[in-house]
Amino acid sequence: MDLELSPAHQALQARARAVAEAELRPRAAEHDRLARFPEAQVRALAKAGFLQMLAPTSAGGAGLGSVAYSLVISEIAKACPSSAVTMAVTNMVGDAIAAFGNQTQQDQHIPKLADATYWAGSFALSEPGAGSDAASLKATAIKKGDRYVLNGNKCWITSGDRAGVVLVMAKTDPAAGAKGISAFLVDPNSRGFSVGRHEEKLGLRASSTVTLVLEDVEVPEECRLGPEGIGFKIAMRALDGGRIGIGSQACGVGYGALEAAIAYAAARPDLSGSQSIQWKLADAATTLDAARLLVLRAATKKDLGLPFAREASMAKLFATESANQAALAAMEVLGADGLDPQHPVERALRDVRVTTIYEGTSEIQRLVIARSVLASA
Ligand SMILES: Cc1cc2nc3c(=O)[nH]c(=O)nc-3n(C[C@H](O)[C@H](O)[C@H](O)COP(=O)(O)OP(=O)(O)OC[C@H]3O[C@@H](n4cnc5c(N)ncnc54)[C@H](O)[C@@H]3O)c2cc1C
Repeated sequence: MDLELSPAHQALQARARAVAEAELRPRAAEHDRLARFPEAQVRALAKAGFLQMLAPTSAGGAGLGSVAYSLVISEIAKACPSSAVTMAVTNMVGDAIAAFGNQTQQDQHIPKLADATYWAGSFALSEPGAGSDAASLKATAIKKGDRYVLNGNKCWITSGDRAGVVLVMAKTDPAAGAKGISAFLVDPNSRGFSVGRHEEKLGLRASSTVTLVLEDVEVPEECRLGPEGIGFKIAMRALDGGRIGIGSQACGVGYGALEAAIAYAAARPDLSGSQSIQWKLADAATTLDAARLLVLRAATKKDLGLPFAREASMAKLFATESANQAALAAMEVLGADGLDPQHPVERALRDVRVTTIYEGTSEIQRLVIARSVLASA
């Protein structure tokens, strides 16, 4: 077992850190304050080759794999978690198109996701009343000749107002439960497609989150991703990989907060000499390192083509919970200064909060893990 990163991965990590420090960090606080989509940052991520890292080169991606992707997301999240989630969902959509799309679909979308011709890709699964229980979604896609007519509401959709392509899950057979769900690559310029409410959020304020409204949206048959009835499988496979991304994002935010707290304590001998402060730093450093190892294990299994769903859920659960604790501990180390919106720890604590919720809450990760361990009994 080799716990050292390869020279290529180390170089990529260093490059991501340099991009994050030069292009993302300087304006992250301003974008957060103004709740402004980080256009310049997305362009910088495209230029660095970070928007389609997972899709293979044959499909127009960079084909760098999940370990590389995890390292980059963590570095980006350390500087600007909003940019990291925008990047993560765009990569996830391209990964799904590469895995389930035909050559035409790959050629049509992946290069545009990679070079930011599309500002983003969006993944539209959640609905009012169908978050954790996504299979109970109500959106429909009814076949009419050579097209489908889509109706329904999707909520909390990351970059939904910026996407060049939206991966929409809808029921082609409403009576068939999860097996009646199909996936569609929807052009947001289609008639009947509109953006509804823009969410005001505690954190990740520079990432846009919106409701999408589908009213008799006609989607050509050739825009269906994969065969009819496998949309839920496509969504779950995308989320398995996505959980590696969110675990990586959480690690990045947690390490960012911890580094700020270490710097603060190191400059104050009254704090760095206090055992209670030392223990907070020690616990955060230990759990974040353990989280990073879990994330990299899941990513390695994905890269090797091995089953990784259980490991991805374990990584997401532990990394997001640990990062929340680390950010809270960092704020406590800073005392009142930790509440100052000018300080990166304040933003880290707000930004990290959602990581235990989206792409499956911690409770849902525990369900996935429990089912898996019980199945192996
Ligand atoms: C900032 C942000 C961005 C998002 N981006 C996207 C996106 O791009 N695309 C998308 O499709 N969705 C997106 N979501 C939605 C997200 O995936 C859901 O919020 C999440 O799946 C939880 O669903 P819910 O909010 O409806 O909570 P609910 O499912 O209503 O859950 C409420 C509570 O009950 C618990 N619970 C529910 N069911 C169970 C159970 N069976 N056992 C134990 N506990 C349970 C949950 O853990 C939670 O604590 C986003 C959400 C946020 C906040």
